[in-house]
Formats: sequence, C-alpha cells, structure tokens
Amino acid sequence: TKFEALGLKQSILNAITDMGFETPSDVQEQAIPILLESDTDLVALAQTGTGKTAAFGFPLIQKIDAESRTTQGLILSPTRELCLQITNEMQAYSKYERNINVVAIYGGASITEQARQIKRGAQIIVATPGRMKDMMSRGLVDITKIDYCVLDEADEMLNMGFFEDIKEILSDTPKEKNTWLFSATMPKEVALIAKKFMKNPQEITV
Ligand code: AMP
Repeated sequence: TKFEALGLKQSILNAITDMGFETPSDVQEQAIPILLESDTDLVALAQTGTGKTAAFGFPLIQKIDAESRTTQGLILSPTRELCLQITNEMQAYSKYERNINVVAIYGGASITEQARQIKRGAQIIVATPGRMKDMMSRGLVDITKIDYCVLDEADEMLNMGFFEDIKEILSDTPKEKNTWLFSATMPKEVALIAKKFMKNPQEITV
C-alpha cells in the first residue's frame, strides 16, 4: 500500500515525500483510514518506533480547521522529550498548511513563553499532563472546545503517576470529542481511562 491509497490530502502527501517516507508502516496503514473516514474513538496497541506519531498525526492535521484559531486537538504525552519530538513531527507534517499552529506545553521551561504561544492561537497542543494541568488552573489554556484528544504512550503516562492529572484534564474536555489512545500495553489503569472516557473505541493491534 502507498500513502496515496489511505485518503490523505495532497499537502500532507507532499510533506511525506519531503520526509522520505515511502510506504506506510503497519500502524499507519491500519489507523489512518479509520481515523480519516469515521468519527470514532480508537485504542491502538503499538510500541514506540512503529510510526504511531504519524498514525495519529496525519489524520489530526487533516481534520483540523485551519481557518479557526480555536484549540481543536490535544495530544498528551509522558515526557518533555517526547512532547518536543511529537511537536517537531507535527510541524513537519503540516509544513504545507499555512495556518496550522502546533504548540508544545511541558514542565521545566518558561510558562510565560508557552502561554504567549498559546495566545497567538494553537489549533493543536502537545502537552505533558503536569504542565497542562498547571496552565489550565491558571486559565492560560482552553481545551473546552477540542474535537480530538490523543493519549500517546498511555501506559507510560500512567506509570509516571499522571492518572489523576489525566482524569482532570479529560474532565475539562467536551463529551462529543473523539479520543485516540495509543499504548504499548494495556494495564488496568489504561483500561480504566478507556472505560471512563471513551465510547465504543475501535481497536487495532500491531
Ligand atoms: P514513531 O514510532 O512515531 O516515534 O516513529 C519512529 C521513526 O520512524 C521516526 O523517526 C519517524 O520519522 C519514522 N517513520 C514513521 N513512519 C515512517 C514511514 N512510513 N516510513 C519511514 N519512516 C517512518
């Protein structure tokens, strides 16, 4: 299969060519058509290194309304490093989309600078749970209108003790959004999050 067969739009296909990706990975081939074609929740069991960032990133970029400045997508990830890596990849995927802003929110860096970037209009926020909750409680970020929430490396986030933070963050998002959960394993806490915050998720395993 080629990327052209998955339903991706030309601007993303052009970015894929620039990145040198030739064929979709297994998780990309499974997840991308599902996420593009239906408004569904998704649980994907996939290890790191399988190409899962693009598996959720391409559909998210495609579904965002670039004409609106509202925050529409939230990606939660366990660490600052992963948060920055995902942000860089998302910026590469959307390089031919003029008006899409992807902003990283993570601890150990200036909250004022991150708030300034959010204020300029971020359709997509990539965040670690602790800093995200901090910025929410200070009223520096608004996720009450998001359409998509990605939980990346959900098992890692819960291992790191982010269970309460994740619950509080998700409780501040609209019920009608779609949640895409990626995890290498499915321990009890991940299943609990899925049960409490997701509706009839489609499931894929790679
Ligand atoms: P990830 O699992 O998302 O962290 O991706 C692992 C690495 O594989 C990253 O360096 C990606 O840029 C790269 N990658 C992702 N998808 C593809 C693909 N379809 N073809 C070649 N490389 C890819």
